[in-house]
Amino acid sequence: MAPSSPALTPRFQRSHWDETRAQACIDFLKRLVQTPSLSGQESAVARMVAAEMRDLGYPGVRVDRIGNVIGRCGRPGGPILLFNAHMDTVDIGDPGAWTHDPYGAEIEQGRLYGRGAADMKGALAAMVHGIGLLARHQIDLPGEVIVAAVVQEEPTEGMAMRVLVEEEGIRPHWVILGEPTNLQIARGHRGRMEIRLSTFGRSCHASAPQQGENALYSAARVIFGIELLNSNLMTDAVLGQGTIAVTHLSSVAGGRNVIPDRCDLIIDRRLTLGETASRALAEIEALLRRENIRGEVQTGYYRTTSYTGYSTEGPEVYPAWLMPEDHPLLTHTINSLEQTLGRRPTVGVWAFSTDGTYTMGTAGIPTIGFGPGDDRLAHTADESIRLEDIHTAAVAYANLAVDLLHHLPHP
Ligand SMILES: [Zn+2]
Repeated sequence: MAPSSPALTPRFQRSHWDETRAQACIDFLKRLVQTPSLSGQESAVARMVAAEMRDLGYPGVRVDRIGNVIGRCGRPGGPILLFNAHMDTVDIGDPGAWTHDPYGAEIEQGRLYGRGAADMKGALAAMVHGIGLLARHQIDLPGEVIVAAVVQEEPTEGMAMRVLVEEEGIRPHWVILGEPTNLQIARGHRGRMEIRLSTFGRSCHASAPQQGENALYSAARVIFGIELLNSNLMTDAVLGQGTIAVTHLSSVAGGRNVIPDRCDLIIDRRLTLGETASRALAEIEALLRRENIRGEVQTGYYRTTSYTGYSTEGPEVYPAWLMPEDHPLLTHTINSLEQTLGRRPTVGVWAFSTDGTYTMGTAGIPTIGFGPGDDRLAHTADESIRLEDIHTAAVAYANLAVDLLHHLPHP
């Protein structure tokens, strides 16, 4: 059994989170859920987040070029701890599958229902109000706490954080992601990339197919090869095996009685630790050579414009990442959470990808995940979150800020 940790510096208790604080936080969450914020359309929620931060007394609040809302408190010039929550959500899907209004934020038996409740407006509300405690009590911190409410995480995770770090010049020393962990800790996840593959043939009249070359038949052989490839991909002891799946197929022909000369496939590739984009492409190129197929394979590429009108583009590659078990950020977070939660949190990994793909996967900024909500409810109909977990997370975030800034060694 692990020895319990020594008591840490001044801490917030649930008693600091009185009825008024708790109610204000849940009211804020309700308004967030009632305001749709599909990726690229976060402007109303962003205004709401900035106004809430100002009301709570954050000394610095601004919106950056891509539309991230950045709230700061503490002492500038020291180490920076950044709390990350994305403002966007996926669409509601089939409205008929919901038994609650997806934008109603209805509360029933201690749970709030609606799109984004678990992924991740619950964490956003808990962060904004939890760190608001530091501003309210004017806690003197040996560094700075930033709450970054970011855009467009769902389609292009990490992109908004790249802009924040590389273009806005905010360089956090540590990052806490609030994506749902059920109040446990996540220390990494597999990465992903999108691969575009085309097979080429030669058109002719479908009444004499032997005179042409059917690009669909080539694609069929590639698809079969890709299915077989799955079992041979690399495995990491913690993150598991990489995977590959064809998710889309289209072919272009002059008509329904014409042999198609081109077929396009989209491939979803999940990358485990050690797998790179070039390795993943090379595997498919080898398959094309082996099967003697005329084709072309390349990395997918995104081009997108934020609600502020800021355009970004880049390859659809999102690296895997995993924090070492003995990293001080991880051990200090476990200790801090143990004090707040009254139990030792478990440490696992996420099944999905997050902004950590940039912060840790690309930029190497130590990153871990801690959030309210059940990740199995993310993107589902009747998505919901337990209100009690929001309150717990809010107090835990405030204590994490105090404990980590006081105790973490920083470069
Ligand atoms: Zn999310």
